[in-house]
Amino acid sequence: MAKRDYYEVLGVSKQATPAEIKKAYRKLAIANHPDKNPGDKAAEDRFKEATEAYEVLSDEKKRSTYDQFGFAGIDGMAGGHDYSNVYSDFSDIFGGGGGGFEDIFSSIFGGGGGQSRGRRGSSGPNVGSSLRYDVTLDFEEAAFGKKIELNYAHQIACKTCHGSGSKSGGTKVCPVCNGTGQVRRNSGFFAVASTCTNCNGTGRVVENPCSDCNGTGTVRKQQKLKVSIPAGVDDGSRVVLKGMGDAGANGGPSGDLYVYVNVRPHKYFVRHNFDVYVQIPINVTQAALGDEISVPTIDGKTVKVKIPSGTQSGKILRVKSYGIPTDRNATKRGDMYIKIQVEVPTHMGLRAKAAMKDLAKHLGDNTSPKPVPFQN
Ligand SMILES: [Zn+2]
Ligand SMILES: [Zn+2]
Repeated sequence: MAKRDYYEVLGVSKQATPAEIKKAYRKLAIANHPDKNPGDKAAEDRFKEATEAYEVLSDEKKRSTYDQFGFAGIDGMAGGHDYSNVYSDFSDIFGGGGGGFEDIFSSIFGGGGGQSRGRRGSSGPNVGSSLRYDVTLDFEEAAFGKKIELNYAHQIACKTCHGSGSKSGGTKVCPVCNGTGQVRRNSGFFAVASTCTNCNGTGRVVENPCSDCNGTGTVRKQQKLKVSIPAGVDDGSRVVLKGMGDAGANGGPSGDLYVYVNVRPHKYFVRHNFDVYVQIPINVTQAALGDEISVPTIDGKTVKVKIPSGTQSGKILRVKSYGIPTDRNATKRGDMYIKIQVEVPTHMGLRAKAAMKDLAKHLGDNTSPKPVPFQN
């Protein structure tokens, strides 16, 4: 399938600011989100297409590569990923369950995640507050997933009064607004109506307030929760635990618990999307004659890599499928890129020095100095 230009996909100009790109993506993502369009393949495709475009254009480095080299530059960088994997991770990581996706998006887009989405003070059922929990994982734990135990406090329905807030379970007409839910105040010629704060506009208040929850219907509880962080999460990923936030009020559903993942950097490996990059030193003879070397992998094992004869410093070798798992069961993985660094010996014994001098005689002066473009 021919790919559409990323700018065209998002409907923005090549000069669009990051804010314009974000805004355009947000609009498309919300309109075409699979939760909102169940069974609509075209909408799902548009969603994936927009997500892919956003992944590239929201990243300053990738955007400039894309501007220079088009899809070829991006494919080279990301190893030509099948973005359906990214999408499936996306829905895993961001919950994907019915409802609430606008909230999820608002937290992705810097709405300050974990904020309350309950509308306190309005009548009827109120959704409980969503909560935020931060975890820090090692590089390998994020790559392969980890079972963790969360220990956090949240509001749950009071057991004594079953969340009603009342000892007897009954309610009575609110004495402040006489059951209307509104209070009127005279202000000059005008009567201003506002929501009654005594009953939050419901018109009714609890009869004998429950002493365990002071009539609020909820109590604070310290909760331990075992959670499987899926393989492939990255720094900044969020895992949503539906309904594990604060209990709702007046029969409303509970809020969610957002687990924010921070990843410690690795000593040697650097990650871009699902690929990992590592720099490996070899010596001059290995570079000239070729060799087979053992390279450490992110699994803590090693993989044999062939160094072709005549390998220059800076050459990048790709080892397929030794990168980050692209799905939660780790059935597919990104690639590992090895940057070869040829080391010139600094401490040579007499024999090594003699051999090097001998080599110099044989090579003569056959590397004619020709200028090449500067490479960083
Ligand atoms: Zn109670
Ligand atoms: Zn009232």
